[in-house]
Amino acid sequence: MPSFSVRPEIAALDPYVPGLSIEEIRRRYQLENVIKLASNENPLGTPPLAVEALRRCAAGAFRYPQSGNPRLRAALAGLHGVDDGRIAVGNGSDEILDMLIRMLAEPGRDNIVCFQPCFSIYPIQSRICGVEIRRQPLNADFSFDFDALLEIVTDSTRLVFVTTPDNPSGYCPPREDVLALAARLADKAPQALLVIDEAYMDFAGDDADGERRFSLLASGDVPDNAVVCRTFSKSYGLAGMRIGYAVLPEELAQYYWRARLPFSVNVLAEEAALAALRDTAFREATLSLVRAERRRLTLRLSELGCAVRPSHANFLLFRPGDGAPDARTCFEALLRRGIIIRPLGSYQLPDHLRVSIGTEQENNAFLAALEDVLRDPAAAPRA
Ligand SMILES: *Cc1c(COP(=O)(O)O)cnc(C)c1O
Repeated sequence: MPSFSVRPEIAALDPYVPGLSIEEIRRRYQLENVIKLASNENPLGTPPLAVEALRRCAAGAFRYPQSGNPRLRAALAGLHGVDDGRIAVGNGSDEILDMLIRMLAEPGRDNIVCFQPCFSIYPIQSRICGVEIRRQPLNADFSFDFDALLEIVTDSTRLVFVTTPDNPSGYCPPREDVLALAARLADKAPQALLVIDEAYMDFAGDDADGERRFSLLASGDVPDNAVVCRTFSKSYGLAGMRIGYAVLPEELAQYYWRARLPFSVNVLAEEAALAALRDTAFREATLSLVRAERRRLTLRLSELGCAVRPSHANFLLFRPGDGAPDARTCFEALLRRGIIIRPLGSYQLPDHLRVSIGTEQENNAFLAALEDVLRDPAAAPRA
């Protein structure tokens, strides 16, 4: 028997809980058609221009990517009107979030600050690092108390995480409040970096102008002590290619390129991302579909008696009404009907469920199944 031992942080780890896969549920329940509304993926699939780029570039897979992904950085710098020295790209924004923690927080000495609940990658990667996590509960309506968040910042705080719009609630704080938080953080803890995770920002607001009203990045207002993270996984339809990026202080970007694994954004991912940026028709179709269906789904869920939170993202957080079957029962009865949504036990919200906005057809199938389940969760699924 080999006798290896792992670090105590690893031995004690509760891993990230991903959404269930379509294949898994197809096999488990012998179903032909399974709909996945669990991971906030793009309802329209992969952008056509990205599919074409992947085909065109497949034979180049034997080459290493160009170091530092300069073409993608230049395109992103152009998109956001910043110097390309301030752009980092990563294997999903997950890689960038992880790297920021590893670059800035010293294990056993420093801490990070975030809300409870929040996107689980921040606390999980901090734990792996051996970095203390200080958490401020969300308000009862899932809004943010930035005063209270600042209260728990200490001299040893190196990173403060804010997700806007938030996952899993869809809440989006006013841009001015995030700006004020950055200014007050710079005062209280000049050594701390504010990480603003804008993974869902392009879905914010009721119309195409929403992003500009809510986003620090889109309004050209990124404070000196802040990083804004974005991703190709949601509105750009490339979750499986793993590409995220950030706009950050230039000095920090240089350290990022020194410290990360050299080729984490692969050649095909880079080509797909460049093509997705060009595919404006796909992206506009995505944004208008999500906004329209978000409105309709919010209304229908309330009509079914669910308590549903207003959302600025491509998903909805809801709770079955009083007297209805509980969230876990609904989740499992939906699975038997071939609909995968997201239970939120791993976010300490066991009474809630999160559903991604799908196509009109997928959303209708979800609503019909949920209506059945709320009436009688034990009934056999209709054939
Ligand atoms: C989906 C998501 C991301 C993006 O993750 P990728 O690694 O880019 O796929 C980042 N932050 C939040 C809050 C998310 O929900």
